[in-house]
Amino acid sequence: MTRPFNADRCIKCGACMRACPVVQEETTSMFDGPRSLAVDSSRFSHEVNSLRDNIFACSMCWKCADVCPSRVEMPRAILRARADMFDRNAALPGHTKMMQNIDVDGLSVRRELDSLSLGVEKASVLYFPGCIAGQKFRNIADGVVRTLLQNATVRTPSGLVCCGSPLEKVGDRVRMEALRKRNLKLFEGRSQIVTSCPGCTSHINDQYGVEALHIVEYLVESVGLAKLKFRNHGVVRVVLHEPCHLKRTVGPHAIDYCYDILQSMPGIRVLDMAEPDRCCGGGGGLLSGYPDVAMDLARTKIEDAAASGADVVLAPCPFCVLNLKQAGGMDVMDLTEFISFRF
Ligand code: SF4
Ligand code: SF4
Repeated sequence: MTRPFNADRCIKCGACMRACPVVQEETTSMFDGPRSLAVDSSRFSHEVNSLRDNIFACSMCWKCADVCPSRVEMPRAILRARADMFDRNAALPGHTKMMQNIDVDGLSVRRELDSLSLGVEKASVLYFPGCIAGQKFRNIADGVVRTLLQNATVRTPSGLVCCGSPLEKVGDRVRMEALRKRNLKLFEGRSQIVTSCPGCTSHINDQYGVEALHIVEYLVESVGLAKLKFRNHGVVRVVLHEPCHLKRTVGPHAIDYCYDILQSMPGIRVLDMAEPDRCCGGGGGLLSGYPDVAMDLARTKIEDAAASGADVVLAPCPFCVLNLKQAGGMDVMDLTEFISFRF
């Protein structure tokens, strides 16, 4: 494998180590962290096995790249190293299970329901539910559809499969490409693609060559806040968990949109919490590869949310909802589902 393209810009300042949520939670005894991986990256190709535990403990939150004064994109380097390791059969057991699910059904999780299929061919929006809202939390997918139907016609074609983002995170480029081709055939037409999972949004934008919008982008940019007619259903105190993929790979504007939507709802009090953009542990293959570490991060997030005094923590990402619900201790709801009950 070639050396990651800009790791040699590292000035060893340590900012990424202080910002990395996995290092903060587990210390460097478990995860060497981004600086060490940057410094060691030239060894990736011939010390693959010794790096195995470290490299899959990264949650792909992109915080290290955010704070790096030299703009070293360690998550990109880590993805490349994971692809290199995948070619050497170095997948973790949880990742192998996920790939088996892909081979059976085209989904990253075990099938529990028939795939969502709705709408008319000429609908203005194609809703891509992704694996978690499509299978684990159909209530989220239903909430997205209810919300979209306020101002659009919606379709979800039968036969959509996983976007491929979880495969990219474990380094499996071959299966990832096969899924991309299957979905692209169903994307044909003039509908705007809308997702409710920021991981799907950024993966489709980066890998498919078509534009996808996260639903908060669609609501603010295409519908417009003025057209969202919310009613007062009583006072609710909420905190917003800012998902890594939404903030750092879709874009910070999408987080601003979440707050704009919440602040336009009568009766909603948005409270502050410590480090709202700290990773919950749900992404990057961490939940399937190292569920204990993912749970440690989720518990810290729930403690921060509970300390705010909020009634519920909202997360505009079904993957984050899944991980935070498993931590327990507080009501957790997908932001879009919450929105769908406030019209
Ligand atoms: S923040 Fe950037 S420059 Fe500083 S140690 Fe990390 S990778 Fe190197
Ligand atoms: S992407 Fe996140 S978890 Fe991974 S090394 Fe960077 S800060 Fe740590």
